[in-house]
Amino acid sequence: MINIKYNFFMPKKIFAANWKMNKNIKEATKFINGFVETIHESSLQKSSTLTNKEIIICASFTLLPVLHELNKNHNYKIGAQNMFHEEQGAYTGEISPLHLKDVGCEYVIIGHSERRQYFGETNEIINIKIQSALKHNLIPIFCVGETLAQRENNETKKIITTQIQEGLKDIKLTTNDQRLVIAYEPIWAIGTGKVATAEQAQEVHALIHALTNKNISILYGGSVKPDNVKELMAQPDINGALVGGASLEIESFAKIII
Ligand code: PEP
Repeated sequence: MINIKYNFFMPKKIFAANWKMNKNIKEATKFINGFVETIHESSLQKSSTLTNKEIIICASFTLLPVLHELNKNHNYKIGAQNMFHEEQGAYTGEISPLHLKDVGCEYVIIGHSERRQYFGETNEIINIKIQSALKHNLIPIFCVGETLAQRENNETKKIITTQIQEGLKDIKLTTNDQRLVIAYEPIWAIGTGKVATAEQAQEVHALIHALTNKNISILYGGSVKPDNVKELMAQPDINGALVGGASLEIESFAKIII
């Protein structure tokens, strides 16, 4: 059990878009304008649409100032997809937590499986990044997940437990401003169209809640679409969704949220 003293539970369901390396400024602007209009119309019809939901857009670094500017009249949250742990210095090509704060970021995805796979991020590196994000009052969306081979070898529990224990080693949430979100993303379900069943996802989410703290919001990610989101969100330990492909189109992302 990690030492999470505060981390007040977010009763809101969280819907986070992970745009990955997609969209230029024009496309992002068009998306946001259309998306907020769609969501706004639905809130007028159904007052619950936004009051009990948190919407986060995690975009490329070049889009973050644009999202920040566009957000002056809206109420979504802005997230980055990665960061370096140092504040500043001779780290060519890296981006610091201070840079993210400067452009209105509140969230940062850390340890996405694509970063583990293509950029060699280990549990240890991820742990250092989470500590740095928390120190700067950014909310990490800490990703964990097993490969297909690991699931087929019955290693899911072991892999997730190790990722959680090593990723959150020595993490303490010591003030009310410090929050942590975890995303369970089975690697075999990311971008493949193969979604985990609600039971498979619930089982892992319950394990993560048992390993950490009931008050942590745990998002499910992996081929979430309008036609499967309801059943997933109905599970007791699933507190929201991290959405890749389906977050790139206004209609599908809005349908997932509404
Ligand atoms: C992701 O990469 O975070 C993700 C969930 O992708 P997709 O929804 O496309 O599977």
